[in-house]
Amino acid sequence: NDEMTTRNKVRETLRLFQAIFRKLLQEEESKMKEKGRAPKRIDILAAKILKEKGKYVNTGKQIIGPVPGIEVGDEFQYFVELNLVGLHRQSQGGIDYVKQGDKIIATSIIASGGYENDLDNSDVLCYMGQGGNVMQKGKQPEDQKLERGNLALANSRFVKNPVRVIRGETKASSTLLEARGKTYVYDGLYSVEEFKQEPGPHGKLVYKYKLVRIPGQPELTWKVVKKSKVREGLCVHDISLGKEVIPISAINTIDSEKPPPFEYVCHMIYPDWCRPIPPKGCGCTKGCSELGKCSCVMKNEGEIPYNHNGAIVEAKPLVYECGPNCNCPPSCYNRVSQHGIKIQLEIFKTESRGWGVRSLNSISSGTFICEYAGELLEDREAEERKGNDEYLFDIGNNIDSSLWDGLSNLLPDAHSSSCQVVHESGFTIDAARCGNIGRFINHSCSPNLYAQNVLYDHEDTRIPHIMFFAAENIPPLQELTYHYNYMIDQVRDENGNIKKKICYCGSSECTGRLY
Ligand code: SAM
Repeated sequence: NDEMTTRNKVRETLRLFQAIFRKLLQEEESKMKEKGRAPKRIDILAAKILKEKGKYVNTGKQIIGPVPGIEVGDEFQYFVELNLVGLHRQSQGGIDYVKQGDKIIATSIIASGGYENDLDNSDVLCYMGQGGNVMQKGKQPEDQKLERGNLALANSRFVKNPVRVIRGETKASSTLLEARGKTYVYDGLYSVEEFKQEPGPHGKLVYKYKLVRIPGQPELTWKVVKKSKVREGLCVHDISLGKEVIPISAINTIDSEKPPPFEYVCHMIYPDWCRPIPPKGCGCTKGCSELGKCSCVMKNEGEIPYNHNGAIVEAKPLVYECGPNCNCPPSCYNRVSQHGIKIQLEIFKTESRGWGVRSLNSISSGTFICEYAGELLEDREAEERKGNDEYLFDIGNNIDSSLWDGLSNLLPDAHSSSCQVVHESGFTIDAARCGNIGRFINHSCSPNLYAQNVLYDHEDTRIPHIMFFAAENIPPLQELTYHYNYMIDQVRDENGNIKKKICYCGSSECTGRLY
């Protein structure tokens, strides 16, 4: 199916962009202390690399209407990502257009604000034309002209072609190097209903367009979240019973089932024979950015594995965070997953996979989600729990190189870190009796999270913490999933018979079975 393969191409291109971006950002951040360095436009650099490697998608003739591989609600962190996937091809301009016959018509617009405040009526968009210096400080405003984008939108009013609308929302937080902070959400197709010329905020004439969302398209999930004060199907306010800083609700709109009983724990539970000892720690007092000096950074091959905004740069066999005996403050950039859950998560009843996990927030690629917490067992103990193996996580079986592969082909300097792999460690985490929200994350053959091995409070590489990170941008309410990495026909019951479990992940790449 063409649409599905294009969707995969779009996801791959965006993932590559985000991975290259974070890698280049890591380099920039390590040099930030150098005096007089102007921050580079890393987004532009990353896009250039992808262009040279032929990774742009939907590159043919300008598309009118839906763009293959893009769905309503898809989120983008950088303007160039819109170019990358063919959703909007202008490099800056808010109105994109194409020549049709002897006229130009609008294909897509970027809308920042302009929606009616009443969320029920937000299918109507009032859009102001471009030019006339109305947005630029220090320039004399002048009348907007009916040319280029403005003319194209006016023509679309008569041609009645669908126009793609991308909302640009100001990001809540952004670091210095990401100052151009906006999130872009694809809002779907609109039609231009009216346009008029009237005096703008500066007394000069501006064009105003009224666009109406074409009915029958999915609602944007953040609207659903914002609209409802009391969530439909809410059955438990906080399954962590106050143990997590941010409460975790349970939502069931399918049936009357309540979440199953278990003891909520935020941290790993180690058996008596295993007393993990914290490593000596680094001596950095001012944070650990001084590369070459921090012993923790050295363990990560001389790089801080996180960007300054907390995003993980790339999947690695093992990440070493600073620990309890380090001299650096809690705000050190090399401490991320140890701080726990920072986003609003909830569990919800799915149609066919029991309970699952999703977030009420937009999640950007590389964001830390949560740990897989539970009781640490030796593999042979885990074997004995065969009848109750739903919540086992096999440590050392979570290296999913396919996820972020391709980075080393695109960036010659990006060394692939295949050393120090924690393989078949002999340990398993069981979250059946005690666990955290991580126990509810389902499997998908086309996942949006991955499991990263992390050490910080002890040095035993056989038993790293299992930490989930976002492998792509995830819109609110989309189910969070990782790849369970089971081998087909390798899971057996207590009598040694092969067990089979059908996969209901529903993705186009589904292989049909979990094991
Ligand atoms: N859904 C679980 C629940 O309600 O507690 C949470 C995940 S638990 C770690 C793993 C179990 O969830 C699996 O043994 C299976 O029963 C179910 N599951 C997870 N992913 C699935 C999938 N893609 N298709 C079908 N069942 C799935």
